[in-house]
Amino acid sequence: MAAIELRGLTKVYPGGVKALDSLDLTVPDGEFFALLGPSGCGKTTLLRTIAGLEVATGGAVVIGGRDVTSVQPGGRDVAMVFQDYALFPHMDVTDNIAYPLRIRKVPKDDRRAKATEVAARLGLEQLMDRRPGQLSGGQQQRVALARVMATQAQAFLFDEPLSNLDARLRLEARTFLKKLQRELGVTTVFVTHDQAEALAMADRMAIMEAGLIRQIGTPSEVFQRPANTFVAGFIGSTPMNLLDAVCRGDTLEVAGCKVPVPASAEGLLVDGEKLVYGVRPEYTSYRAGTVEDGLTGSVVILENLGASHLVTLDVGGVVVQAVVPEGHEPALGEQGAVVPRRDRALVYRDG
Ligand code: ADP
Ligand code: MG
Repeated sequence: MAAIELRGLTKVYPGGVKALDSLDLTVPDGEFFALLGPSGCGKTTLLRTIAGLEVATGGAVVIGGRDVTSVQPGGRDVAMVFQDYALFPHMDVTDNIAYPLRIRKVPKDDRRAKATEVAARLGLEQLMDRRPGQLSGGQQQRVALARVMATQAQAFLFDEPLSNLDARLRLEARTFLKKLQRELGVTTVFVTHDQAEALAMADRMAIMEAGLIRQIGTPSEVFQRPANTFVAGFIGSTPMNLLDAVCRGDTLEVAGCKVPVPASAEGLLVDGEKLVYGVRPEYTSYRAGTVEDGLTGSVVILENLGASHLVTLDVGGVVVQAVVPEGHEPALGEQGAVVPRRDRALVYRDG
């Protein structure tokens, strides 16, 4: 087991794309770290650079206290699971799992024993003679996991390993993978573009945008206190309300209404200052009629979320959303207000 440290890590591809822009990151020993960001932000490049499959343009990769920046992939002692699993179609499950051990010249009997042991742990015992083409997506995914586990690497790198599974299987695999990582205690960097997956699985996480890390924190920190409007807009199953605001003493003018300055910004704002006011729909309530400290408008959309409804209001031409518990949803067209929680609302200067 080993910590992973990236120091000023930079990767510029031939042609000039700067995929990693001087990243600093420490993933402590045994942590489950999720790397989240939109397509093209550099997630795969970051993993491949840690694994040694890409050569860094600048900076350093340190694994278990050893600078491996110039070390070949085979000498880094990390194992990577690719999005498409990269199983060998002509090999059966046993040989696929044992392949990395063959590369390391582990004797055949030892390889088979290890493959069997790991396969049992992942419930693959009955499938050892099958080829990947004879397995379901979920089973292939387990074989890819088994292959990584068999290596007994110091760190696991996962590149969107669940993205080829259907919704149900994906939720099961999430729980399974998380539990397995806990048991093994192996430092893990898990790449995903799915914010819910990152929030559910990670001990800590980073949100990337265009080769930069925009925030690092625990899922709760990132959800409750997004550091900037990019992260605020990216995290959460319903998008955060991000509204232009102007400071007027101890209130903010937002969409022609007045709301109190958020607790987190008290005493920090300048009168007349232009800001972005942010509040999650989950951290608001809805009240019918006109409300003094709320964003008053008319209900234009109602979406059923199961145990709650997402209510969309038109507030003077600005869209504002609230999550309302089941049974409390307003009628379409009704006048009402979204009332933000002052202890949960935020302001941004980067909008
Ligand atoms: P992600 O995994 O977050 O979708 P990638 O790491 O694959 O992002 O890509 C980051 C950026 O680097 C993108 O702009 C992509 O087009 C570019 N890129 C990735 N691989 C290469 C490559 N081999 N050569 C040139 N540009 C690349
Ligand atoms: Mg990728």
